[in-house]
Parts: sequence; C-alpha cells; structure tokens
Amino acid sequence: MYDVIVVGGGIGGTGVAALLAKQGRKVLLLEQHDKVGGRCASHEKDGFRIPDYGHAFTRGSRGNCALISRMVGEEIAWGRKVDGIPLWISGQWFKLTVGEGLKRPPRLQGLKLPLKDILPVAKLVFVDTLPKLLTKRGWDELDRTDLRSWLLKRTDNAMLHALVGYCFPGFYVVPYWESSVGETLRILWLMWKAREISYPIEGCAGLTGAFLKGFEKYGGEFEQGKVKRIVVSGGKVQGVELEDGKLLEAPLVISNAGIRTTVQDLVGEEHFDKGYANYINNLKPSWSCLLIHAALKEKISDVPGVFSGPMEDPVEYWRRVERGEIPDKISLWAVSPSNWTPEIAPPGKQMMVLAAPLPTGEHIDWNKWADKMLEAGEEIFPGLNENIMWKEAVGKEHIQENLDKEGVLVQTAQTNWQVGANRPSMISPINGLFYVGSDVGNAEKNRGVGVDMAAESALRCAEIIANKLGPVG
Ligand SMILES: Cc1cc2nc3c(=O)[nH]c(=O)nc-3n(C[C@H](O)[C@H](O)[C@H](O)COP(=O)(O)OP(=O)(O)OC[C@H]3O[C@@H](n4cnc5c(N)ncnc54)[C@H](O)[C@@H]3O)c2cc1C
Repeated sequence: MYDVIVVGGGIGGTGVAALLAKQGRKVLLLEQHDKVGGRCASHEKDGFRIPDYGHAFTRGSRGNCALISRMVGEEIAWGRKVDGIPLWISGQWFKLTVGEGLKRPPRLQGLKLPLKDILPVAKLVFVDTLPKLLTKRGWDELDRTDLRSWLLKRTDNAMLHALVGYCFPGFYVVPYWESSVGETLRILWLMWKAREISYPIEGCAGLTGAFLKGFEKYGGEFEQGKVKRIVVSGGKVQGVELEDGKLLEAPLVISNAGIRTTVQDLVGEEHFDKGYANYINNLKPSWSCLLIHAALKEKISDVPGVFSGPMEDPVEYWRRVERGEIPDKISLWAVSPSNWTPEIAPPGKQMMVLAAPLPTGEHIDWNKWADKMLEAGEEIFPGLNENIMWKEAVGKEHIQENLDKEGVLVQTAQTNWQVGANRPSMISPINGLFYVGSDVGNAEKNRGVGVDMAAESALRCAEIIANKLGPVG
C-alpha cells in the first residue's frame, strides 16, 4: 500500500513524485516506457544528445524545473544564457530581446514602423494594454483577448501581423487568433524577470533525470509499467491496474497521462457526472508538430533558435495549412541546442531541430511537409542540407504511439478561453484523483510555456497533497 501512486514520468509526474518523496510520503512512480521524460525526454546517438521531441527552455536556472531540482538537492546544470529570440520574416532578421530590469524593457529589434503606424501602435501599448496590467479585471480582459484582434484594433501593418502571427503561436502551437494576449504578456514578463533562455547541459533528459535521482534518494519507488486503468469504487480512488493485470493499491493517484486520457480512458467517463465529462471532452487541444532532428557535420550558424514565417497574412497562411495545403513559403521554428550547450554535439558539429506546427487531421501529408521544411531551413541557414549527416523525423504518429492517442503537443491548449482560471483544476471530482502536467492547473501561477508550466503544476500539486494528507507521521 502506497500513500500515492503517480501515473506517468513526464516533467509533472517525476517532479511531483520527487517533491512528495521528499515530504516523506511512500510514493510509487509508474512510467510506461523504460525512461522518464515524456514529451521532454532525449536520447543519445553518435555523441549527439537529441531531444525526443523539440525544445527551448524559457527560464533556465530561474525556472520551475531548476527550482524543483534544487528542492530535491539535485541541481540541473544549464548552458549558455541567450538574451532574446531571433525572428525571421521572409529574409529579414529581427530579435525579441528579453531586456534587463526596468532600464532595458523587452524590445523588438530590427522593426521599423512606417510613420502612419507609430501612433496606433503607441496607443495599443500605452492606452489599450499597459493600464490594464494594473488591475485584475484588466488582466482578465487581456487573457480573453486573442492576439490577432488585439493587434487589429489599432493596426493592420503586415510585418507586425507576420511577426506576431508566426512567432508567438510558437509558445502555444495554436493559431494567433486563438492565442491569449494576457498569457503572452505573462510569458514575456516571466522571461524578462528571468533573462535566461537556456538549455540543460545533459540535454532534455537532464531535467527528469535530476528529479528521478532526488525521488529515489528520498526513498521513492520507480517501476516501468503501463497503467491500464485507475481503479475507482464508490466515487473513491482505490489504486491502479497495470496492463499485465497487477493491482496496486493507494488512496491517492496523481495522473500525468493527460487530463482527457485520464478521464476518458484510464478512469472512464461513467465515473464522472455528465457535465464534467462533457467539459473535459470539449477542452481544445493544441495542434501537433512535425520535427526534423538533424545532426550536422559542421557548425553552420551561431543562431540558438528562430521563429520564422513568410510575408503572407498569417490568417490566410494558417487556414491553408489547416485545409491540408503546403504553402510555397512556410513558417518554420528552429532550435539549435548545441549553440546553447556545445556538450549536446561532438566538437565542431551542430545539432539542429526544425519544427513545423501542423493540425492532426488525416489530410496532412507529413512526408511532403518534411521536404518543405528542409527547403525552408536552407533559406534561413544556407548550407544546412549538404551538412546533414543523418536526420530523424518525428511527428503525430510518433507522439500517438508513445504519448498521446490524439498526437497533440498538449491536451489543453493555451487558447484565449483556456488560460488562467479557465484552465482545468488539478483536483478531480473523484475523491483521491489528481492530475499533474502542462495541461492542468488553474492557479494564477500556472502560466508559461510547456515544460515550465508542467513543473509549476508539480510544485502546486505537491502543496495540494501536503495540505490534504497533513504532516508525515
Ligand atoms: C514536439 C514538441 C515540442 C515541444 N517544444 C517545447 C518547447 O520548446 N518548450 C517547452 O517548454 N515545451 C515544449 N513542448 C511541451 C512540453 O514538452 C510539454 O508541455 C511537457 O514536457 C509536458 O510535461 P507533462 O508533465 O505534462 O508530461 P508528458 O511529457 O506528457 O509525460 C507524460 C508521461 O506519462 C506517461 N504515461 C502516459 N500514459 C501512461 C500510462 N497509462 N501508464 C504509464 N505511463 C503513462 C508517458 O509515457 C509520459 O512519460 C513541446 C512538446 C512537443 C511534443
């Protein structure tokens, strides 16, 4: 009999397991694969530490993963800090700097607005936005406002729409007419405060690797096993059943398997009232993503990462992508982890991750998209293709096989109607069942980008459980 069983060893699951073990709880962590990490795992090949999916870490040693690792006494080593995110629109480079204190607020370097747009953009910032940051009502309004309508209220400047429409959805992987202004500002604020976009020296696996070390040090038990169902009887959690039929008992189960998967498949909708089951079924997930991990024989660029897009109306563009078309010029996001931490690649070589957000529908031709991504990558990084020693493509099917039946990046997208208080609670209506991960957590602090949010949910979930169970012994 355990105090708590944690289902799934992603950032949220491993993080909360480590924090609860440190509290002195008897915790079992179950992960279906032979390694932890989930969407933030990595593997090694020919001296490259390759993310299993794709990553950029918004707050480095000042973020929530670093905080958990320090709390469990297994500090994560971080690489070089970068001071901003390069942006590329149809051949022109820009940079969103994270600034430094009040003297240097975040700036969009390289953007020259025509005279006619200067006053409207100033009004957008100083009249429509900054005063709203002073009140909760104002923030709530910004949370509910989507990036496109916010911008369009004052300007239709094509370059500004392209920059916002291709770059900020990179935080959420939903189109910019569904991305929240309030959430975007909070992310920029968090990045500004931290001034530390960074990358773990051990690669993505270094994060959950540190949590797992802490977990086992404090007596936690880790077992590889796929949970078939979370056993509920009389409205109360009893434990879990593994695929091999083994039953494990615990009064509390924390699921990191995704809120929809947990409700629909692991518990079963029949255990919830109809209203709650409908609410969960209607949560909007993010899009999926096609990734190309490329091992380069030479270093071809110093750029740590870039959001890019064509000089096309982003609404037109994303609608075409939604319909299954492959535009001639595409929006590509690229991260080069070895430009943050050279340890990620053998000396003189470079690791590059190209990513294109794509809907999950069957009408998407993933192979043609891969060719187009390499073509687009070549335009931004000349010499890319001739330097590729080998590459791996990872897309919806890979995510479906390994993590999520829908193949999405996150089961609750940060749309303008699903952020802040409107995100699902970590406390389920079933006695003893909790969720953890980047798709849950409706506290004000559950803001940010994927990994940082999953770690925030682990911190909050550990507090919730501590309050529920009281002091150990
Ligand atoms: C392609 C891609 C690119 C991304 N890029 C970024 C980025 O640049 N920056 C960023 O911050 N975030 C990024 N994210 C998002 C980020 O990776 C996730 O939000 C975060 O890692 C999710 O953590 P989690 O705790 O929710 O758990 P998950 O990573 O979803 O892990 C859940 C774990 O539970 C396990 N599991 C599921 N079901 C069972 C079961 N029945 N039994 C046992 N185990 C089970 C899974 O195997 C998995 O290990 C990206 C995600 C993807 C997919």
